[in-house]
Amino acid sequence: MASEKRTFAMKMLPPNFPILWKGETGYEEARIGRVFNFRRPERYPVAVIEATTEDHIVEAVRLADGIGCRVSVRSGGHSWAVWSVRDETILVDLGRYHEFSFDEKTGIAKVSPSTTGRMTNKLLEAYGRMFPGGHCPENWGWACERVLAVDVVTADGRKLHCDKKENSDLYWAARGAGPGFPAIVTRFYLQTMPSFSHMRSSAYIYKREDYRKALEWILGITSAYDEGTEIVAVASYPPGRSEIHVMVLLVTFKNSEKEARAALQPAEESAPPGHVDTWFCRETSFSKEYDDQHAANPLAHRYCVDNCYVRNDADVVSVLEDAFTTLPSRKSFSLWYSMAPCSRRSAEKGTMDDMALSMQSDHYFAAYTVWEDEADDSRCQGWVKEICREMERFSEGSYLGDADFQVRRTMFWETEQGRKLMKIRRDWDPDGRIAGYLDDGDKSGTEGLTNVHEWKNSKMEPRTSNGDSKPS
Ligand SMILES: Cc1cc2nc3c(=O)[nH]c(=O)nc-3n(C[C@H](O)[C@H](O)[C@H](O)COP(=O)(O)OP(=O)(O)OC[C@H]3O[C@@H](n4cnc5c(N)ncnc54)[C@H](O)[C@@H]3O)c2cc1C
Repeated sequence: MASEKRTFAMKMLPPNFPILWKGETGYEEARIGRVFNFRRPERYPVAVIEATTEDHIVEAVRLADGIGCRVSVRSGGHSWAVWSVRDETILVDLGRYHEFSFDEKTGIAKVSPSTTGRMTNKLLEAYGRMFPGGHCPENWGWACERVLAVDVVTADGRKLHCDKKENSDLYWAARGAGPGFPAIVTRFYLQTMPSFSHMRSSAYIYKREDYRKALEWILGITSAYDEGTEIVAVASYPPGRSEIHVMVLLVTFKNSEKEARAALQPAEESAPPGHVDTWFCRETSFSKEYDDQHAANPLAHRYCVDNCYVRNDADVVSVLEDAFTTLPSRKSFSLWYSMAPCSRRSAEKGTMDDMALSMQSDHYFAAYTVWEDEADDSRCQGWVKEICREMERFSEGSYLGDADFQVRRTMFWETEQGRKLMKIRRDWDPDGRIAGYLDDGDKSGTEGLTNVHEWKNSKMEPRTSNGDSKPS
């Protein structure tokens, strides 16, 4: 960046402003130190602002406007594709911007964006409340349906409150736009719910050769299963085992042992024989489930992730077979998540909130590829690409939180919602001040994503010896 621009910028900023310019001591740590994925990108922001107040965020946007560059944002640093780190941007890091308050009358928690699900639920424990995110039954609906409002700093530096009545289009977009949201969220208003006294789990672990038996069974019983129970199937190398295994896991949220046992009993009675390990109605908790998630997603590792919503009319067991029986590394895992009956609701019928988030099917599949050595990058990334290329024909689209638009662009919203979202982005950020969707070459700008199945009809080049392949 030209030194005169920087000098100009310094004059705009208040004293002791928490900014680190590229090249300064501490810049590299500020650029990527809080990024979860160790497959770190060669992308370099002009400067990083470690905001601790809302005003710092406003100043950051004004500064970017003053020097003519974009703004990127980081909250948790958990984006697999590292969307926060962009070339020629001012990166606003919210890791030091903390806020939490809880209103006992309304049950609404106000939370700053870098507060993780685990932190939020820990803080809510004292009030006997919880906020459902990961590990909660899909039947409770999407977590973003419980986001009642957001406060934002807009692309032109204004502080606004957004909910169903005020700035409702931004509120609509905030729930489903992902990294294309055309403003910076500074506060979430979360509708919490009473917590449950009895969280229990059951598991059934099968050898790889019993994959079909296990999946056919669980697919057959999920649609009519108890509403307070989360159901997943995971293919992985379990600790101490040298072969891939398939684990069917049920986690139920109840208020007594009796209710928990009753909810888990139908699985216990119908599970096909042949499992090599199992447990029934074992005591668990949010922190135990979060610990398990941490163990499956270790720090300081390299990751490549992609996903599909598999069509309801597909032969799901066959579509997922390669992904569940051929993992590219010992720490990788593939996951199927039951979304029914939540997935059958619709905004038109009033059974689901009207919001940008609209892509869904009964079957969520994601491949989480985990490895340590850079030499394995191409092979592991190639495996994910190949798995999703095969699956694209059978998919409705994808969830953007587990996607990387630099590699694969597909449908992330229903057609109408996608169009509306791209218009809202252009209305609120016509100059593309907020760095949006990171596609190949970071070119998408104000246009955003096209929201089509780009790979559906494309032919792939044959796989190279390292497993890499790309669509022609
Ligand atoms: C270990 C692990 C487990 C995960 N589990 C789940 C899961 O159970 N369910 C699920 O849905 N997803 C899950 N994800 C995916 C994750 O939720 C998404 O990648 C999400 O984007 C992470 O949010 P973040 O704030 O940490 O992202 P960051 O990396 O901090 O930010 C990513 C992008 O989000 C946008 N953004 C971030 N903060 C703001 C803000 N304040 N205002 C406006 N835009 C902003 C920006 O475009 C930013 O570049 C998981 C990821 C990891 C690494």
